[in-house]
Amino acid sequence: MSTLQDDLGNLLEIQSLEMKIKAHLDTIKEEKSRLNRVEKFREAKTKRREEVESEIKNLNDFINKNEKEIFSIESKLKQTESHLAMVSTQQELGALENELKSLKPKLEELQDHGLAQLERLEDFENEAIELQEFLNGSSDTIKEIESEIEDVKNVENKHIEQLKSRINLLVEQTSKEVYQSFHQLNQKYQYNKPVTFLMGKDCRECRFQVDQGMILEIERFTALCFCHGCGRILTTNHSS
Ligand SMILES: [Zn+2]
Repeated sequence: MSTLQDDLGNLLEIQSLEMKIKAHLDTIKEEKSRLNRVEKFREAKTKRREEVESEIKNLNDFINKNEKEIFSIESKLKQTESHLAMVSTQQELGALENELKSLKPKLEELQDHGLAQLERLEDFENEAIELQEFLNGSSDTIKEIESEIEDVKNVENKHIEQLKSRINLLVEQTSKEVYQSFHQLNQKYQYNKPVTFLMGKDCRECRFQVDQGMILEIERFTALCFCHGCGRILTTNHSS
C-alpha cells in the first residue's frame, strides 16, 4: 500500500513526464505548421496563376480584336487613298481628305493601344512562367517536408512511447482513487499543472488563499486536498 505522500510524489512525476510528452508533440506540430505555411503560400500562388491566365486570355482576345480593327482601318485608308487619284471635283476631294484626317489618328490610337497591351501581355506571360516554376519547385519542397515530418514523427513517437510506459508504471504504483482524481483534473488542466504547490498560504497557480485546516492536512499528508479556487490538487514541496 502506497502512502498519500508517495502517491502525490508519483502524480508530480507523471505530471512532469506528461510535460515531456507535450514537448515532443509540439515538435511534431511545428514540423506540420512548416508544411502548412508552404501549402498556404502555394495556394496563394496557384490563385495568382489563375488570375494571370485569365488576364492573358483577355489580353489575347483584345489584341486579336484590335488587330482586326487596325486591318479594317488600314484597308479603308488604302481605299480612300486610291479614290483620291480619281476625284473630279473639289467637293469630293474635301470629303476624302476629311475621311483621311479622321482615319489616321484612329489608326494611330489603335496601334499605340495594341502595343501597350502587347507589353502587358509579355509581363503576364513572364509572371506565369515564374509562377509555374515556383509551383513545380514547391511541390518538391512539400514532398521533402512530408518525408521529414514522417522521420520526425517516428523519432518523437518513440520518445513518447517510452514516456508513456514510464507513466504507466507510476500509475500502477499509485492508489486508484488518487490517480482517478488526477485523471479527471487532467481533462481541464492537462499540461497545465493539475497538481500544484502551496506557496505560503496560497495556491501557487490561482493564488487562492487556503484555510489553516487544509494547510495542515496538506503538510501532514492526511488527506488529498483540492484548491477551492481552481480545483487543482494541492501539495507541499517541503518533504518531497
Ligand atoms: Zn488554485
